[in-house]
Amino acid sequence: RIQRRVMPCRRDIDAFAPSFLAIFESLVPAEEEKAKQRQLLLSLSKLINKEWPNAQLYLYGSCANSFGVSNSDIDVCLSIDDTEISKADILLKLADILQSGNLQNVQALTRARVPIVKLMDPVTGISCDICINNLLAVVNTKLLGDYAKIDARLRQLAFIVKHWARSRRVNETYQGTLSSYAYVIMCIHFLQLRRPAILPCLQAMEATYVVTVNSTKYAYFDQVEKLNGFGGRNKESISRLLWAFFQYWAYHHDYTNDVISVRMGSIISKQAKDWTRRIGNDRHLICIEDPLEITHDLGRVVDKFSIKILREEFERAANILQYDPKPTVTLFEPY
Ligand code: ATP
Ligand code: MG
Repeated sequence: RIQRRVMPCRRDIDAFAPSFLAIFESLVPAEEEKAKQRQLLLSLSKLINKEWPNAQLYLYGSCANSFGVSNSDIDVCLSIDDTEISKADILLKLADILQSGNLQNVQALTRARVPIVKLMDPVTGISCDICINNLLAVVNTKLLGDYAKIDARLRQLAFIVKHWARSRRVNETYQGTLSSYAYVIMCIHFLQLRRPAILPCLQAMEATYVVTVNSTKYAYFDQVEKLNGFGGRNKESISRLLWAFFQYWAYHHDYTNDVISVRMGSIISKQAKDWTRRIGNDRHLICIEDPLEITHDLGRVVDKFSIKILREEFERAANILQYDPKPTVTLFEPY
């Protein structure tokens, strides 16, 4: 087990909090962008309901979980119980409907891991991915959104980490680095483990929200307004948390043995999950348990090349936050 001495934080770390907060504010989408997203969802629903009166569209992903930066694409899920036709045929029909509804660049990706239809709306300029019956993604969207309501520092941290990941090109799953969703999970887990804790473990509390998807039951405490002030005893500033986040992933996380688990609110062992060796394409070089699909390692996209890149970027970020005179600039310098 690696036991590295915790490095004392630079003495002026809190002085950078206002600048990091300003960066966060600049990334938050304006109200008019939110309004455009709702307008697009409404017009898509109208089009689709002409063909399938019982179908419903849900927003999910970062536009619905409050972790979306401005100008992101929106993620939409079509919920439909048409057992007559296959998913691929639904997608193709959906693409037809959208095409004749004057949407642009309509493309059905029927063979993707998550099959989707892509489109661009010329009225709002927003791009959108539509998937079919992916209700688990709607549930994890709610879970992330509920965590965000408990302590403002989660959104601040996640926006800055996402912005860093994008600037440094380590937010590209097709290149073997991590998804935005995985980064948000890493932030939640990190705040659950601060002492005093900044976030609770909602799945370990009495369930007030229960939902069944594909005959599996998911449950957690969702009355988060009752948890207002939960993290109040912890006074760490956003810059101190960022420093500690990158210190953790650069120097303290045990990549050989540990899995981070938001579901448990703790570290669990790779051994216990049988994630100790490569199975098929799943290499488990950095283990991030999906809070709902618990057999699913969000780090499985990472390979022996990208793990090196990722860890070097964590170290670079940690060192910048520790030593750089202008961390709020240097951290985001393009790769
Ligand atoms: P961005 O702002 O970068 O678009 P995002 O939160 O929308 O961020 P995406 O990676 O686009 O993240 O994923 C969209 C949604 O799809 C996530 O919020 C999550 O609900 C779901 N999702 C993405 N990747 C996974 C995954 N590996 N396992 C389960 N659900 C996932
Ligand atoms: Mg998205």
